[in-house]
Parts: sequence; structure tokens; C-alpha cells
Amino acid sequence: MVQLTIDESRCKGCGLCVRACPKKILELAKNKLNEKGYHPAQMMDQAACVACASCARTCPDAVITIEKE
Ligand code: SF4
Ligand code: SF4
Repeated sequence: MVQLTIDESRCKGCGLCVRACPKKILELAKNKLNEKGYHPAQMMDQAACVACASCARTCPDAVITIEKE
């Protein structure tokens, strides 16, 4: 099991993680704004995540953490 956590309040909606994901399972939440006024990244299909950590490495603000169980 992989647990991916996105700290939405710190996300600046740059979309780099969305582009970095080989499984195309991240997207910016178009109908949601965080406290900073950005559309935060969100996970669309946790089961499809292969825990490659591309998203976490790409994020300039270390918003994404990945834990393997
Ligand atoms: S760990 Fe890899 S597969 Fe999972 S969301 Fe991040 S980039 Fe996509
Ligand atoms: S790379 Fe980081 S800051 Fe940019 S959209 Fe993804 S989680 Fe948010």
C-alpha cells in the first residue's frame, strides 16, 4: 500500500507534479481553492499510484509526501 499525502494548504497550483506523474493520476482541483487562492493538486486514483515519487521530487515546495507500508 502506498499513501500519498498532498498538503493542499501549501500547494501553489503550479501543476509540475501533474505533468511529472507517469500514470496521469494527479490534477489541479478546478472547483477548489486553498487559503492562498490556488487550485491545489489532488489525487484522482490512489490505487493506480506506483510510488515512483516523481511528483514529490518535482514539487518545488515539498508539498507531497509518499509513505510505503
Ligand atoms: S508517486 Fe508516481 S505514480 Fe504516484 S502520484 Fe506520484 S508521480 Fe504519480
Ligand atoms: S508541484 Fe507542488 S506546488 Fe505544484 S501543483 Fe504539485 S503539489 Fe502543488
